[in-house]
Amino acid sequence: MSRVAPNPDNLVTVDLEAIAANLAALRALLRPGMGVAGVVKADAYGHGLVPVARRLKAEGAEALAVALVSEGVLLRRAGVQGPILVLMGLGPEQAQLAVAHGLSPFLGVWEDFQALSQTAGALGAVASCHLKIDTGMSRLGAAPNEALGLMERAAALPGIRVEGLASHLATSGVPGDVQAQKQAAIFRDLLAEARKRGFALPQSSLAGSGGVLAPPEAAHGQPGLARLGISLYGGLPDPASQGAAPLRGAMRFTSRLAAVRRIPAGTGVSYGHTWRAPSDTWLGVVAAGYSDGYPRSASNQARVLIQGRPASMRGRICMNAFMVDLTGFDPLPSPGEEVVLLGRSGSQEITADQLGHWAGTISYEITCSLGAANRRRHRP
Ligand SMILES: *Cc1c(COP(=O)(O)O)cnc(C)c1O
Repeated sequence: MSRVAPNPDNLVTVDLEAIAANLAALRALLRPGMGVAGVVKADAYGHGLVPVARRLKAEGAEALAVALVSEGVLLRRAGVQGPILVLMGLGPEQAQLAVAHGLSPFLGVWEDFQALSQTAGALGAVASCHLKIDTGMSRLGAAPNEALGLMERAAALPGIRVEGLASHLATSGVPGDVQAQKQAAIFRDLLAEARKRGFALPQSSLAGSGGVLAPPEAAHGQPGLARLGISLYGGLPDPASQGAAPLRGAMRFTSRLAAVRRIPAGTGVSYGHTWRAPSDTWLGVVAAGYSDGYPRSASNQARVLIQGRPASMRGRICMNAFMVDLTGFDPLPSPGEEVVLLGRSGSQEITADQLGHWAGTISYEITCSLGAANRRRHRP
């Protein structure tokens, strides 16, 4: 990593206790016999790969899931044990790394099963993997009509163990969603047939956060794993799953006021003067911008919290700063005062979903960006 030091005014605080509480709240929604694979790809959605993984394991998560073999290797080097699913499967030449570190890739093509089997043979190991099926995401995985044939052939290969069928919902988190229902039905039927043919597939998985917060009917009655990502961090896969579980935001992002200034009525603010003061206005200059992972598309939309009170953004977000309206604050905040851009302040909270909404994006992208760009501290 060769990047200049992040702005010391800005800090991401990750509340590991919130993640543990979210895991417990989500578990309460799972059918008996279901386990959790905590999804910690993309540096745990910006919350920190190793600290989050360790906490999830300490809280009893049955498995972890990453996108890349390289992320799985980092977890093993940190001493993390137990199943680690690799959702994006094997890149070229990665079978060796995956087998040597005991990772479980999601595979959807015959050549990848062969490569894993050969590598496992060469290393004298037994490699576990999952058969990925494309039930409607159109991303990765075998076609449903090829899945059982591939299952039979893969299971016959030496040195590998297929631990589960896996698929991913394209639409989820909306109760009663018809597309999710269709995908779940395809998955249920394939899994039932595979189990009838004698494959136990104990780690089979379909649901992500959306599939747990708003389960498609056809997903009932199948033991396996739920692959939980955003909901562990307190975000929602879709606004329609609001209220399905009591989730707590795990990330807080704070900055400071770099300056406080008064501008007369009619003055334009920031690039392009997209906001003009209708009357004399107190402005606070916040020392964070889009280079700190704060989304520029939230310009003129977002609010921040200062002294537990909301302040509205004025004008465009710059690379390292943006302006907020302090008119009516009494006492007037001073330069150096803490500004909460994400998370709680007093009785108020800005959630990652809310900030994502202001920015025209999703909570996932918000926490990934903020976590990647800033100093980060973990609260146990
Ligand atoms: C990212 C991902 C998940 C987790 O999704 P959330 O909506 O964050 O819970 C689950 N499965 C796969 C295949 C993924 O890529």
